[in-house]
Amino acid sequence: NDRIEYLRSKLAQYPDFPKKGILFEDIMPIFADPKAFGILVDLLVELVQKQFKEIDVVVGLEARGFLFGPTLALRLNSSFVPVRKPNKLPGDLATISYKKEYAEDAFAMQKSSIKPGQRVLIVDDILATGGTAMAADELILQLNGNLLGHVFLMELGFLEGRNRLKAPTFTLFSGQ
Ligand code: 5GP
Repeated sequence: NDRIEYLRSKLAQYPDFPKKGILFEDIMPIFADPKAFGILVDLLVELVQKQFKEIDVVVGLEARGFLFGPTLALRLNSSFVPVRKPNKLPGDLATISYKKEYAEDAFAMQKSSIKPGQRVLIVDDILATGGTAMAADELILQLNGNLLGHVFLMELGFLEGRNRLKAPTFTLFSGQ
């Protein structure tokens, strides 16, 4: 598919970033090119409409899930709400700590951001070990959201992160 290949051509790989042994996929060139960003959003809308009936809330994970989550939500006529790192969100919060590919971290969400039973889609740029998305899954379940699934630009398939997640997972392409 030409659109997928165009998007893939915009990714840049950086060996040993942010740590030795990690091959970092830089997705920012997609957002530097309006044609690539347009293709990205179109492909995500098509994927979500094909795989899920109706989404009430798109949940984006800090920070790269914020780059396209709101645009996707707008196109789907859904709400957008953020999952954030600690000490960023005010008010009454649901929180969870987790391990990821190269760090330990915690996530928080405003309790009021999801109403019980709302149909939730989680979005982020890259699925690696799945630790980050799994933590987000647990937050959604804490708030009694109806977790429908996940959409990522890319998954690092050899890490098998999708096996750790609590709902179906779709990605535009795989990396190594
Ligand atoms: P996981 O928790 O699945 O191991 O790691 C996924 C999280 O780390 C995502 O939030 C993603 O943004 C970030 N991440 C892991 N590897 C990469 C990478 O190679 N490139 C980018 N852009 N993000 C990565």
